[in-house]
Parts: sequence; C-alpha cells; structure tokens
Amino acid sequence: MKANDKSADVIIIGGGIMGCSTAYRLAKEGVSVLVLEAKEIGNGGSSRNAGGVRQSARDIRELPLAMYAVSNIWPTLSEELDIDVEYVQNGNLRLGKTEAHVTALTNLVKKSTSVGLDVRMITGNEAREICPYMSDEVLGASWCPSDGHANPLHTTLGFYKKALEYGATFATGIQVFGLQKVKGRVRQVVTDDGIYEAQHILLCAGHASRAIANTVGIDIPVERETSEVFVTEQMKPMFGQMLGTSDADFYGHQSAHGSFVLGGMGGLEKFTSNYYGDETHNVTLPKLSRGVIKYFPDLANVKIIRSWAGQYDVCADGVPVIDNVSEVPGLTIAFGFCGHGFGIAPAVSIALCELIMKGKSETIDISKLNYDRFAAKG
Ligand SMILES: Cc1cc2nc3c(=O)[nH]c(=O)nc-3n(C[C@H](O)[C@H](O)[C@H](O)COP(=O)(O)OP(=O)(O)OC[C@H]3O[C@@H](n4cnc5c(N)ncnc54)[C@H](O)[C@@H]3O)c2cc1C
Repeated sequence: MKANDKSADVIIIGGGIMGCSTAYRLAKEGVSVLVLEAKEIGNGGSSRNAGGVRQSARDIRELPLAMYAVSNIWPTLSEELDIDVEYVQNGNLRLGKTEAHVTALTNLVKKSTSVGLDVRMITGNEAREICPYMSDEVLGASWCPSDGHANPLHTTLGFYKKALEYGATFATGIQVFGLQKVKGRVRQVVTDDGIYEAQHILLCAGHASRAIANTVGIDIPVERETSEVFVTEQMKPMFGQMLGTSDADFYGHQSAHGSFVLGGMGGLEKFTSNYYGDETHNVTLPKLSRGVIKYFPDLANVKIIRSWAGQYDVCADGVPVIDNVSEVPGLTIAFGFCGHGFGIAPAVSIALCELIMKGKSETIDISKLNYDRFAAKG
C-alpha cells in the first residue's frame, strides 16, 4: 500500500518490530511518522522468531535493555497494546550436558550477576525439579526466574495496530535503495516509488540496513544468518519455561495451547544453495529434532506440524548498533540485533524515540551500543 504523502517528520525504514514499536511511541508523542516496508509488516525475523524474552546469557552491553523491558514493559504489554501478546514469565533454563557446558554457563552467570541480574547455576536434579521431563543427561543449568516468552506475531502486529491508532502511516511494498543528504543533513529516501522526504530517518531494516547505510558512507560489519523454527502438534502441558542449551542444540518453549515452538540452526545451512532464502533447509530439522530428543526423550514421537525459516542480522561483536550517526545528521540506526532482538524490542523503541526526539537515550543506558565502536583506533 503506497503513501499519499511522501513526507513526514520521521521516516522509518523497515516494518519489523523495531520499526512498528518505534512508530507507535513516536506517533503517541504527536510526531508524524511514515514507515516504509519492502514487503509486508512483520515479514522479517520479527514474526518468524521463537518468542524468547530472555535477559540471561546476554552480552552485558545489551542487558540494560533486556532488564528494563522485563521489569517495566513486558508484564503489562498486553494491556498497553490491547492484544494478548501471550507473555509468560516462568523463567529460562539454559542446559548443559558436559563439564565444559557447565563451565561456560557459569561464566555467563558471573557476568550477568555482576550487573545485577537474578540468575544462578543449579544442578541437573534442581533443573529436573523445575522441568521434570528433562533427561538425566543434564548436568547443570543456568536459571533465570524472571525470563520468559511471548508471541512474536501478536506483539509485532500489536505495535503496528497501536501505531496506526495514533496516526502513523505505513507504506508496504516500497523497496528502499538508499539515502541522500540535502545541505549536509540526511533528508531523502530513494525508493522504487521515487523520493520520500523527512527531517529525521530511522534505519531499522534488519540485514538490508548495511547496504542502505553504505549509501551515505556508513559501514557497520553486519551479515545475515538464517535460523529455523518448528511447531509440534498439541501436547499436554509439560513445561512453561523458555529453554536453551549451552551447545545451542535448540531453543524454545511450549505455547499456551500445547504446541512446542522450537528452533535453532543445523550448522550446515551455509553450504546449501538456498541459504539466503526464506525456505527451510533439509539439513536443519533432523539436527534440531535429535538435539531436542537428547534433552527431552518424551518428545521423541511428537509430530512436527509446520516449520519456517527466518533471517536475522548478525553484528561482528554480537550486539546491535543503536545510535545517532554524527557524520550524517538526522540519521538514527538500529540493526545488528542477531538472534535476540525480539525480547528487547519494547525497550529499544524507547531508546530510539529518545534518540530521535531528544538526541540521546535518557531512560536506558545504550552507550555501549554506539556505531563508532568499529572505527579504527589509534
Ligand atoms: C528463526 C529466528 C528465531 C529467533 N528467535 C528469537 C528469540 O527467541 N528471541 C529474541 O529475542 N529474538 C529472536 N530472534 C531475533 C529477532 O527476531 C530479531 O532480532 C528482531 O525481530 C529484529 O527486528 P527488526 O525489526 O530489527 O528486523 P526485521 O524483523 O527483520 O524487520 C526488518 C524489516 O525491514 C524490511 N526491509 C528489508 N529491506 C528493506 C528495504 N530495502 N526497504 C524497505 N524495507 C526493507 C524487511 O522486509 C523487514 O520487514 C530470532 C530470529 C529468527 C530469524
């Protein structure tokens, strides 16, 4: 759907959860916002992810966003958006089967507790008390009781609907090619539908952001990766925690209606011919299924009813760039969220709203997510 007016105070490039949630917050503040989306709203990783809302096992540079989101936004987000985002806060277990796994998990726990997160190591038996269907092979786990999961599609579209209610405009099927400066300030967005104009531009188009930023001389080391999710038939309620493993065999949870939503990567996808597509890969599901069964033998005969692939943008040092670009006044960037942007998105949008309206993020410390951390030093 094209926009009648090709100008706004703020143009947001990318209609994923970052774009929709920031459009909502800006529109609520009375800012005129236009979102340009190449395909459909939520077409990218934002509606294809596994719904993990996790603080544990995050890089501590990203933890202020995750902790803020869990403490202040997720518990009341359904009411705020008038849609059930299916948020469940039953904790996160990250499982280890070897001494090496337990050591790696212990190191992650130490880093997280150093900045105040309530997460601790527990034994295999303690983990089995929390989640009795787990195999005896689990030696230990990290346990973060305030972590959880939510429904990515509902959340992304919930932000979209609220943004619309507050007057934001969304134009879909508009492919952005690049940006142009006018009198030293970024002003124009070049698209397959001509030139759009704004006082301020937010670039949050996932892995496509790098090439778009390149058009105004900014290069951030981001590449794309593919991951897959599958959904099983409905099962009796077995566990409510979000699960992951030290060895990244799989991640996921059981949804409210009984299906398991599980995901991960097989490891060989890069060597397939369709790696950069949205199709699933024949090397992935068998590997993930074997991983799940090792930890949860009771799931050996559960039927998989559907699966999908999604892509995300991986930044060279594992955390995103969320910043105003000083060389390009008027440009804010937010990409490189890797496989963990969904859980922090409600907080990222507060930081982005402040970056755009006040020039700095006041509520949440994002100082370690600056874009110029990759600049040559010395
Ligand atoms: C399979 C999978 C599982 C995941 N699991 C989790 C999880 O459990 N927990 C978690 O926290 N995170 C998870 N993630 C990561 C999370 O989904 C992302 O970090 C998050 O959705 C990023 O949101 P975004 O809005 O930045 O990007 P996206 O959702 O990718 O949105 C970017 C949008 O930009 C549009 N676009 C691209 N190019 C252009 C262009 N040229 N012009 C206009 N528009 C353009 C795209 O079509 C897309 O809609 C997972 C991701 C995947 C793929």
